[in-house]
Amino acid sequence: MKLKGNYFFTQKEDVKDEESVSANLLVRAGMIKKVGSGIYTFLPLGFRVLKNIENIIREEMDAISSNELVMPSILPEDVYAQSGRLEAFGDDMFRLADRYGRRYVLGPTHEEMFVEVAKDVIQSHKDMPVSLYQIANKYRDEPRSRYGLIRTREFIMKDAYTFDKDEEALSKSYQAMFDAYHKIFQRVGLDYEVVRADTGAMGGSLSEEFQAVCDIGEDTLVICDDCRYATNIEICECKRSSTINSEEELSKELLYTPNAGTIEELSQKYEISSTMLVKTLLYKVDGKFYAFLIRGDRELNETKVSKLLQAKEVVMATPVEDEEITHAKVGFAGPIGLDIPIIMDYEILSMKNFVVGVNKTDYHYIHVNLSDFKYDMVADIRMVSEEDVCPHCGGKLKFKKGIEVGNTFKLGTKYSEALGLYYTDEDNQLKPVVMGCYGIGVARIMAAYVEQHHDDAGIIFSREIAPYEISIVIVNMKDEEQVALAEEMYQELLAQGRSVLLDNRNLRAGVKFKDMDLIGIPIRITVGRGASEGIVEIKMRDSDNIVEVNKDQVLNFIR
Ligand SMILES: [Zn+2]
Repeated sequence: MKLKGNYFFTQKEDVKDEESVSANLLVRAGMIKKVGSGIYTFLPLGFRVLKNIENIIREEMDAISSNELVMPSILPEDVYAQSGRLEAFGDDMFRLADRYGRRYVLGPTHEEMFVEVAKDVIQSHKDMPVSLYQIANKYRDEPRSRYGLIRTREFIMKDAYTFDKDEEALSKSYQAMFDAYHKIFQRVGLDYEVVRADTGAMGGSLSEEFQAVCDIGEDTLVICDDCRYATNIEICECKRSSTINSEEELSKELLYTPNAGTIEELSQKYEISSTMLVKTLLYKVDGKFYAFLIRGDRELNETKVSKLLQAKEVVMATPVEDEEITHAKVGFAGPIGLDIPIIMDYEILSMKNFVVGVNKTDYHYIHVNLSDFKYDMVADIRMVSEEDVCPHCGGKLKFKKGIEVGNTFKLGTKYSEALGLYYTDEDNQLKPVVMGCYGIGVARIMAAYVEQHHDDAGIIFSREIAPYEISIVIVNMKDEEQVALAEEMYQELLAQGRSVLLDNRNLRAGVKFKDMDLIGIPIRITVGRGASEGIVEIKMRDSDNIVEVNKDQVLNFIR
């Protein structure tokens, strides 16, 4: 493409309303334009990057015989009601009605629709495996869209679905998809980790996430290099301590602690450190109140709680509810005499002479031991911390922040049973089809890539996904020899099948160089004073070296 006469836009100044590096750079580089909160236009350059990423995905999907189709965004509401997801998604789903009052949703994900398509081809066990995918827009009414393309309300997703006769066959389909995902993320050039994740509301048996490692990531990844245990922190197990605490048990005593309802106040005024304290956290789980006991410096893991109690909703009690249960101000709840179910973290088992609230404003008990109160269950309910060791091998755990760019999921028969996708097996028995589903956030890959690959001058694209592989910058547009040589090389490179950007604008060379750096073109060819001798300069975006070469050697060099 020749810049003059085509759409090309960049801006020098940082973008005011973007809080991530990638959003700022992508807007400045003229790749995307904000339309509204979590809604973006892909401008010509950005659209090319998107297409390149999509093509990598397509090639790898085709290689494992997954067949592409595309579904509409406007979907009948009743299908989602039937699968129970109208309720599960709640306010996250965009809903609308047509002029006749018929109800629709903007598709947040398409399991239901793919089941309908699969019904047409699956009758017997001989009709499987079936693997289908699409690359299409999805819609979720995110309460807090942020970080540019990372959390948006309209987003581009590759979603694939596999249909198999049993778990064993599903495992094969799953593995093929899993391997394809590795190839995709390696080709894109992302630094990523694969971690186990919560199967959550989807109700499947295995969920793994492909996470781009990145400081602004909203997920915390916990990784053990010794045994390759890797999970999302949400499901990371805590290793149970085997050390026996031989401290002598003292008798509990009441301590007057006015206005010390927080751990900070307790430690400042009474020298009670958070590790000596047992917190009593009051929660409402599917409408029923529970108390959870964890060490003062720990965090409750709501995903573990939800799994433990097989609950849909785990929310902290409101201050009003808290005071109704404890008859004390918030911050003074304690396990002694509390008449709701009490679930205690394993770690408390090895604590002695600890501090708890009294359910009485301004008082704590000190020197409390397990024999002082009743509890209903002991379980692993806390977040793993950086001082914990690997629950499997005892090795050191590493914590990283990640942006989820892909997930693979063994879904099982939940949707086939709910929507009636059955087949007849070898013995003529009717059985539900076993499904897998697999997502990739296409535009999110673009953002995550930019988060990982940039410098002060702008984006640093790889040749696989760059909007153009090569730029040719003409230093002086008034010099006919320069213009002619640049044009000649432009045509030659195009004929070789390269994607090339010819910067033929009437601007100072410095301005053009800055633009090429900002938009991240991997190879820059500068046609300047050497043009009369057929000499040009080549510079790679990720290096400061400039190499002078004869125009005839350029192709070899690039190759
Ligand atoms: Zn380990």
